[in-house]
Amino acid sequence: MFYASRLLQKHGVQAVFTNREGGATTDFSLLDEDKLAHNIQLLCNQTHISTPHQVIQVHKAEVLHCSGVGYVHKQEADVLLATERGVALAVRTADCVPILLADKQAGVIAAVHAGWKGTVAQVALKAVQAMCMRGANVEKIVASLGPCIGSCCFAVHADVAQKLDDACQQRVNFYRDGLCFADLALANQGQLLGVGVRPENIETLFHCTACHADPSYYSYRRDKGDTGRQLSMIMLA
Ligand SMILES: [Zn+2]
Repeated sequence: MFYASRLLQKHGVQAVFTNREGGATTDFSLLDEDKLAHNIQLLCNQTHISTPHQVIQVHKAEVLHCSGVGYVHKQEADVLLATERGVALAVRTADCVPILLADKQAGVIAAVHAGWKGTVAQVALKAVQAMCMRGANVEKIVASLGPCIGSCCFAVHADVAQKLDDACQQRVNFYRDGLCFADLALANQGQLLGVGVRPENIETLFHCTACHADPSYYSYRRDKGDTGRQLSMIMLA
C-alpha cells in the first residue's frame, strides 16, 4: 500500500510513497476527482497525514507555496512548498520521479514531480533554491526519491539522454543492445548534490515502476498511458 521514508522519518518528518498493492483505492489519478478525494481520505486516515495540497502537474519547474487546508489547486506547477506545520503536500506520478524534501529545523518542506522534461528544466534544483529562499539550509535538507522508472526500462532517444546529461552535469545514460537508457533517479540525485544537498541526506528507493514486482506500481510507459498514479506525500507534524 505505501512505504514510509526511513530517512525522513529519522529526521522527524512524515513522508510516504504509495504503490499499486491493494486494488482501486491505490489509484491517485486526477482523472476522477471524487475517487481521488476518497482514496486520499483513506490514505490520510492510515498515515495520520492531513489532506494534502496538489496542483496541475505540467512537467516544468514552477513552485507553488501552499498554506492552510489542502485541496487540488487549479494552478500549474511541479513543486509544492510549505512553511507551516500540519500542511501536507502531494504529487502524483507513474514513472516520473517523486521527490520529497525537508529541512525540519527551518520548518520548510517540498514535494517535487520530476519526469524527464522536469529534470531537464532542473525542477529538483529549483525546489531546493525555493526552499533556501524560505529559510532552509541546503546542508540540512533531507531528500527522498520515490519509485520511478528505472534505467532497466527507460529507453530514450539520444537527444533526450544528452539533455538529461546537460541538466545534471554528469552522464546518466548508457547503451544496451543498441538502445539508449537513461537513469532519472541518478539525474535527480546529481542535481541535488550539485546544488549542495549532502550525500548522506539523500535516500533513493530503487524500485522501477515499470518492472518491480513486489510491490508493483502504475507505469505510464509499460501501460501505454492507460494507468493509474502513485501518490507521494509529505508533512511536518
Ligand atoms: Zn525496470
